[in-house]
Amino acid sequence: MSSITLHGAVEEIGGNKILIEDGATKLFFDFGLSFGKYGNYFSPYLQPRRYSIISDYMNLGLLPNLTGLYRQDYEKRFRETSPEPKYDGVILSHPHLDHAGFLSYVRPDIPAYCSPGCKAILQVFEESSYGFHQYTGIKESFKIRESKRDATKKVKDRTSFIPREINLFKPSFKIDDITIHPFPVDHSVPGANSFVIETSGGTIVYTGDIRFHGRRATFSQTFVDKAASFDPDVLISEGTNIHEPKTYGEMDLQQDLFSIVENIRGLIIVNFPVRDTDRMQSFIEAAKHTDRSLVINMRQAYTLKTLEENNVSYVPRLDEVKIFVPRKGWGVLNDMNYPIEIQMQDYQSWENQFIEHENSVTADDINANPDDYIFRCDFAELKHLFDIKPPKESIYIRSVTEPIDEEMELDQKKVDNWLKNFGLYPYTQLHCSGHASGYDLQEMSKQINPKKIMPIHTERPTEFSSFHADVILKALGEKYPLG
Ligand SMILES: [Zn+2]
Ligand SMILES: [Zn+2]
Repeated sequence: MSSITLHGAVEEIGGNKILIEDGATKLFFDFGLSFGKYGNYFSPYLQPRRYSIISDYMNLGLLPNLTGLYRQDYEKRFRETSPEPKYDGVILSHPHLDHAGFLSYVRPDIPAYCSPGCKAILQVFEESSYGFHQYTGIKESFKIRESKRDATKKVKDRTSFIPREINLFKPSFKIDDITIHPFPVDHSVPGANSFVIETSGGTIVYTGDIRFHGRRATFSQTFVDKAASFDPDVLISEGTNIHEPKTYGEMDLQQDLFSIVENIRGLIIVNFPVRDTDRMQSFIEAAKHTDRSLVINMRQAYTLKTLEENNVSYVPRLDEVKIFVPRKGWGVLNDMNYPIEIQMQDYQSWENQFIEHENSVTADDINANPDDYIFRCDFAELKHLFDIKPPKESIYIRSVTEPIDEEMELDQKKVDNWLKNFGLYPYTQLHCSGHASGYDLQEMSKQINPKKIMPIHTERPTEFSSFHADVILKALGEKYPLG
């Protein structure tokens, strides 16, 4: 007998954790962080307690209370741990944290499966981001040095790394009794996949996050055609935008962008999501169209480099963009009073490779020739406008989602104040979603034609009944038996 249990993303967007069981085989599809639930309890000033994070998250409903799943260094702080893992793998649809973020808490002896693009992005998180990112392995916590002579020191977590087996997707692969067919799909991050999952109790299709209006819409359509050929029993479908009619697409956006940037004389400043390489491509095209260069930040440059090293071919190349190297720390970049070694110490080790990169530019370069550039500038980078000094004719394009909660609204007010300060207000809003519209979800369901549909990653699960007669609505953690 097989079953499906949703341990997250029930009546909310994100935090997907789908347990699929077939006899003794137990697999999780995604193991994500629910930003909604997290935001209900935590803020920058009220952070989780690291030493009891798993039990605290369980008590708040952010993690399911299951044994044989979590890393033992944390679990043994509050209960007995099982010597062997009780789960056979975590299969990741894509590297957004609401799908992959909580892999950091999963035992390293449970292997993960993902696409090369997904692996590359998770690697970048681990190497260059603040926060708790331990996907390719864990840094064992709460250890004291074993040496008898010096048992008074805590072990630094970087010296006690336990690697995790990360298996890259094959066109189809088996984990014990379950056969998995991954299909690359269109979404707002590289490496996104949907799945056909064959179990002894029936065939399940899981969309992950998907859209049909981006640069890789044909990927999504190919997945739909293939999924339909399996005559599936259950379609686990995301429904983020089920209430939205047809959506404005990435190519519409690029077209509108061209006409906005065409006649601008000063600097064009833009904010778009840091890992959305398709949006980056739209701005690269706009830059080419106006004889400018797109300037991205070092983290984005590092992302492109890592994607390239992982052979992901459908993303921009590093030689198509300029890399912004801001002054940091002491602010002594290019100050000849300080030796280069001192200048370098203002940067993290992964950033050093970009400081003297042939494509790097500084605030002075942009200031000298503002109409040569489109400068990507996110919230944290607004302060560099003091050095860049955008001239009067400059504009700001906001290419991220509209604020959806109070916190985002407060942040946007701050952005507005910065923009007013630099004469960049009002701004132009230009964005399209990473998620399929209601129309496209309905069309997908019609074409895949599953016997039942199970909504996930949506605040409006009941709306699926407007186009499917058999909608499975289960509570968080409630098992749905299959065959
Ligand atoms: Zn998501
Ligand atoms: Zn996503």
